[in-house]
Amino acid sequence: MTAQPGAYYAGQGGLPAFFNNPQRACARPSVDPGLFHPGTRRGGDKAKAICARCPFWRDCGEWALANPDVAGSGIFGGTNEADRDVIRARRDARKGRAA
Ligand code: SF4
Repeated sequence: MTAQPGAYYAGQGGLPAFFNNPQRACARPSVDPGLFHPGTRRGGDKAKAICARCPFWRDCGEWALANPDVAGSGIFGGTNEADRDVIRARRDARKGRAA
């Protein structure tokens, strides 16, 4: 996969507006788009480091958390798929304790 995250997911609907914003760190010409699609649930450390400098990291990560079927194993908001599973589980546990 060589498309930028926004381009790759454009046909899948429901994308937030920031995916079309050229200020996305992953949209810069110097960035290898393939970094954001490691093809595994873990890894993507180089992409995560790029996300850390992106103004959209929080919204991007929340989008991926809310759309796991679309996000798949991509790197979004500094998280890989395994990271997002952990975050969801922690949030669910917190909700359970609060109920
Ligand atoms: S947080 Fe990462 S994946 Fe999301 S727009 Fe920024 S650089 Fe791209």
